[in-house]
Amino acid sequence: MLAVHQAADGGLARVRLPGGRLTAAQLDVLRRAAAELGDGRLELTSRANVQLRGLDADGPRELSDRLYTADLLPSIAHERVRNILASPLSGLDQESRYDVMPVAAALDKALCDRPALAELPGRFLFALDDGRGDLAELQADVAVRALDERTGLLSLGGRGVRVEWAAVPELMVAAAEAFLQVREQEWRVAEVSGGAERILERLGLRATEVVPVESTRVAAGVHGTALVVTVPLGSLTQEQATALGQVDVRITPWRSVVVPAGTSGLEEVGLVTSPDSPWEGVTACAGRPGCAKALADVRADATRQLAQVRGRRVHWSGCERRCGKPAGEFVDVIAVGDGYLVDGERL
Ligand code: SF4
Repeated sequence: MLAVHQAADGGLARVRLPGGRLTAAQLDVLRRAAAELGDGRLELTSRANVQLRGLDADGPRELSDRLYTADLLPSIAHERVRNILASPLSGLDQESRYDVMPVAAALDKALCDRPALAELPGRFLFALDDGRGDLAELQADVAVRALDERTGLLSLGGRGVRVEWAAVPELMVAAAEAFLQVREQEWRVAEVSGGAERILERLGLRATEVVPVESTRVAAGVHGTALVVTVPLGSLTQEQATALGQVDVRITPWRSVVVPAGTSGLEEVGLVTSPDSPWEGVTACAGRPGCAKALADVRADATRQLAQVRGRRVHWSGCERRCGKPAGEFVDVIAVGDGYLVDGERL
């Protein structure tokens, strides 16, 4: 059965989506499950997954059955470790040097085929970058960034080694296996002393090329044949999920959704299709009432203060844990019980 975390508002289940991909039918399964088993909403996460909240005691089993039937739960043993990001616009616009989505699917299968890899820490992260550098700031443990249609740069830190795409899924799982051999209690490659070099050595590889560090987060709007849609606070209502569910979608690590350009009926339900919206770049943790640790209803407060933070990347947290904070730089808004601190100063 799917592992469920107990939050103040009931069970919290995370559905992992390698590459962020969801067919229209799968999105409909999740939407119905949220309505019938949870609080009605679908939360998007910073790892391009979906969360359902407010599950009652029978919810996890029923949800697991539905996910299994919808091909969203291929291996119970590996569910926690299927953390595979892929550039959300891969293959859809001019910036994409190579379509990495099929590689993400092959990597997921290779991962689930190896029983030993069920022991990977849940934080261990794979990334497949289509060459634009949008995943760079997410600091995956094992990443491949496209150079062209034939090769990519495999890296476990600042340096990489050229590899052919055909070999990538097997090399990435081999790197994960080697991580399990060299680590002690560590959760991430960067925490292991000399981890990247020791792992590559076990694969018979040596990293010599510097991996570019620039990061280009994808904003809302039309990109090639795709439309990137901002979801206010990364939380889809039933109506919004229904509007998106006309088509196959890709969830992004920025809690937005990629749909085909020309998809209609989205603005009418409160989704945002242009880059100059005040919702762009604003995220928040669950806050009250969902989380017992929360000192405020951060989502309501973020909505009230929206106009004041326009144009900036901002994360609102109900306590110092800062759950769901974005990678890279952001304005840090934290509830302290009688108000908020903004980057350490009183709001
Ligand atoms: S940051 Fe604090 S309040 Fe917000 S979800 Fe995490 S633990 Fe709860």
